[in-house]
Amino acid sequence: MTAIAVDNLVKEFGDKRAVNGVSFTTGDAELLVLVGPSGCGKTTTLRMLAGLEPVSSGTIRFGDRPVTDVRPRDRSIAMVFQDYAVFPHLTVFENIAYGLRSRRTPRAEVKEKVPEAARTFRIDHLLDRKPRQLSGGERQRIALSRSMVRDAELYLYDEPLSNLDAQLRHTAREDILTLHRRKERPTIYVTHDQSEAMALGDRIAVMDAGRIQQIGTGEELYERPVNRFVAFFIGTPSINLFEMELQDVDGDMVASGCGLELRLPDSIGHRVRPYAGRKIELGVRPEHLHVPRMAPFDVTEDNTIHGVVTVIEPSATGSTVYLTTTEDEPQDFTATFKVRMPASYLDKEVPLGIDLEKVHLFDAETGDSLL
Ligand code: ATP
Repeated sequence: MTAIAVDNLVKEFGDKRAVNGVSFTTGDAELLVLVGPSGCGKTTTLRMLAGLEPVSSGTIRFGDRPVTDVRPRDRSIAMVFQDYAVFPHLTVFENIAYGLRSRRTPRAEVKEKVPEAARTFRIDHLLDRKPRQLSGGERQRIALSRSMVRDAELYLYDEPLSNLDAQLRHTAREDILTLHRRKERPTIYVTHDQSEAMALGDRIAVMDAGRIQQIGTGEELYERPVNRFVAFFIGTPSINLFEMELQDVDGDMVASGCGLELRLPDSIGHRVRPYAGRKIELGVRPEHLHVPRMAPFDVTEDNTIHGVVTVIEPSATGSTVYLTTTEDEPQDFTATFKVRMPASYLDKEVPLGIDLEKVHLFDAETGDSLL
């Protein structure tokens, strides 16, 4: 069943189009993440869903109910903001109870629901305190508890974790998933952080310049990005992009440029044959570069890139290595390995094998994927 349906939503501020034709639908218990860089229109989209911002054009439906022109308080929405919106003069209990009381919920129900929600988010021992006596993480859990006690049709989150440190953010993600699973309602979650999007979203909508570029599961976006923007935005470290030209050499498709001459495997070659002679960008994810003796394929001159190691960054699971090509116009690129690269490689030139079965090809002009 479709729970939320947004059709061709547009928002103009003067002559600026902040949201430029956004459409999507969600399942009735789906958590959809809107992710994109600052200014791409995520918050404006969310505010239109909440009714806090009138639409310029387009429609919004909750189930069968058109709500485009319905007042915010009549939309049945629970929303968690970045700044938690806690009232400093009220106790934790009163803060959590606020939404219930403003809806004239019976006292007995408030007394039952508030401690129950507080228990879920581990702040039930703090109910008599004022927010200033709490940590950022605890304040954030007040906002989650407040959503928990409400029975809303739609749950909206606007960067609720950006004021928390990395450790707390992980716990809070779990809390948000707990809330979502308990409620089983459509949820829209806005963030600029792609790793948060990957961790939380059933599906993710990647936005840029007021438009949804692609919507899909994290895996779909990572493995089959529709354009260069999505490929670059999803994944850390970001995908490496090389400006090249495609050529048909005796029936084989070869990508050349940046000092590379790469013979594409048939699986990719036959799909890009119509683009022979065209300028492209070749995308290689950092984990698809391999030290030759550890590569899961034969490393030959047809799939090798040479680079000078400039930085070796040990990580929990291996290392991230920054390199520069040795061409006249050197280009930086990044590789990630599951093993620690010894420091003795610093400033040395190394060959790395490119897993050509896994590369992405984009039209240099439009950025659209050719695969
Ligand atoms: P961020 O992650 O920085 O919050 P965002 O993707 O949520 O960014 P929006 O806040 O939706 O982006 O803003 C989209 C564009 O609309 C921006 O260029 C912003 O400056 C502009 N904008 C947002 N609100 C208004 C407003 N009330 N008046 C004029 N322009 C606005």
